Amino acid sequence: MNIYTKILIGLVALTALILAFLFFRKRKKEEEQKEILKEPIKIYDKINTLMRSSTQQYSTRDLSKINKIILHHSAATGQTAEDYARYHVQSNGWPGIGYHFVIEKNGDIIQGNSLETVSYHAAGKNTESIGISLSGNFMNEQPTAAQIKSLKQLVAHLRAQLNKNLPVSGHRDHGQTSCPGTNLYPIISQL
Ligand SMILES: [Zn+2]
Repeated sequence: MNIYTKILIGLVALTALILAFLFFRKRKKEEEQKEILKEPIKIYDKINTLMRSSTQQYSTRDLSKINKIILHHSAATGQTAEDYARYHVQSNGWPGIGYHFVIEKNGDIIQGNSLETVSYHAAGKNTESIGISLSGNFMNEQPTAAQIKSLKQLVAHLRAQLNKNLPVSGHRDHGQTSCPGTNLYPIISQL
């Protein structure tokens, strides 16, 4: 057997190994999502109670337009969904809170916009995405275990609800920002 044949066999074996790894990782994630979906999800609906602009309104979309989930952190704009809504309306001049969901430190999932709402959270990608923000600045702190658990649950729930395997990316994948922070970004590979 000459050296090229050996290299070729090696490459084929390596490719097979990588494909097997990816296949089993995908299956493991699917199994995990099924398990997660068995638990009931608690979402606090604050769509009509968070601060809104009295003069502006977000536009709406058909749910079929949604093809991705984008992850954020709150960085320095406060701690609760109420804080972000106030900041986005009063300081940014937006129609309402930018995110569809906020996951607070204790793991509470707050819904701030209906999925049909095209809110502002990732410039250029708002029409096609759902924005989820975890409270905290993950450039220098860690997300809580409760937040990660709720995030996994919410992502599984949204995929099931829209019947689409929505990919999750970080805000930094779509623009010049450190969001959702160095300590949260790696979690995406687990979703
Ligand atoms: Zn962001």
